[in-house]
Amino acid sequence: MDRASETPQERLRRLRDEIKRTVDYRSFYLRYCPEARQAGARLLSLCPIPSHGHSGQGTPSLSIDTQHGLFNCFSRGEGGDLITFYELMHGVNFARAVRELARELGLTGRRPRQPPLVQRAAPDDAGPEALEPLDAERTTEICEVFLRVCRGEDQLEGVRYLARRGIGPETTRRAGVAYFPRRAYRRVMRRMLDAFPGEELQRSGLFNRRAHLTFYRHRLLFPFLVEGRARYLQARTTAPGVEPRWHNMRGGVPALYNADALAELPTGAVVYLVEGFTDTLTLAARGFAAVGLVGAGGLKEEWLAPLARFRVVAALDPDAAGRRAAARYAEMFSRRRMRLASVELPSDINDFFRHHPSASLELSLLAEAALEESE
Ligand SMILES: [Zn+2]
Repeated sequence: MDRASETPQERLRRLRDEIKRTVDYRSFYLRYCPEARQAGARLLSLCPIPSHGHSGQGTPSLSIDTQHGLFNCFSRGEGGDLITFYELMHGVNFARAVRELARELGLTGRRPRQPPLVQRAAPDDAGPEALEPLDAERTTEICEVFLRVCRGEDQLEGVRYLARRGIGPETTRRAGVAYFPRRAYRRVMRRMLDAFPGEELQRSGLFNRRAHLTFYRHRLLFPFLVEGRARYLQARTTAPGVEPRWHNMRGGVPALYNADALAELPTGAVVYLVEGFTDTLTLAARGFAAVGLVGAGGLKEEWLAPLARFRVVAALDPDAAGRRAAARYAEMFSRRRMRLASVELPSDINDFFRHHPSASLELSLLAEAALEESE
């Protein structure tokens, strides 16, 4: 039973049962009846119950079944279990008898110490015993339902988070971004458990071994849409100071982020290759066509073919890693007889757009120059 939700009565009954499982009946009764003598499976004793007012002499009237812990006073026709005996001996009620006996036996009745929710929600370490990943179709179904469930919750914090980064609600909606507030965590978790077997949720990485939703601190969800369906998702924390900032399902990133946007574009259009969701959506919000590299591993060979009909411009972070990546990707492109132009902005794209009123024009000019140079 879920101890967090038990009533005081249920808790007392549970403690009573624990006492009976733990106590040694014989020594319990012998404490009160040190003169008791063994008679077969029973103890026989003068009855010490104060309210019975026995003289303390004569024939023993108390019979104790030490196997089941029951007592009976033949003289007064009163009997019961050890809790009742304790009540009678100490003149206390049931609740107090249970609490005192439990304390004596070291049964606190408190919930066994549970790690905090943030720990119970932690993703599993991918060990050698990690479960087999789920196939792509089932993963997609889980993603789709998860996003739908999350969209049923209050989106405000997530929408605001992106709006502060210059990404408006229309772009957010088109990108299929979803959010749920932490207070909805248990409800979202239950809905997912209603929709899928726990084992599948765990194999997808949405749930962990403790049967908890792993998206606890990371609740701003970015789906990878391929032909309109979410095949995979990564989530970001919106709280400062949370590391890692990203969390994802199991399995590899299936595509460039926002790759679906390419389908509508005319051949020869300029497409920006950037790092991360925020930069991708920052450009999308300004009407640029952009696809994002997300997660470790970078650009995959099989993602290049869909880019072949466009003029691709890399706009990666202006640091050593970004420059190395741009050079490596340019080589990958040229091996396929494709060209990759590259621009370097003074900061990452999101920053650049937030701090330069003419950012759109500047980026377009830089891109045109880089494309001419590469052709
Ligand atoms: Zn008695």
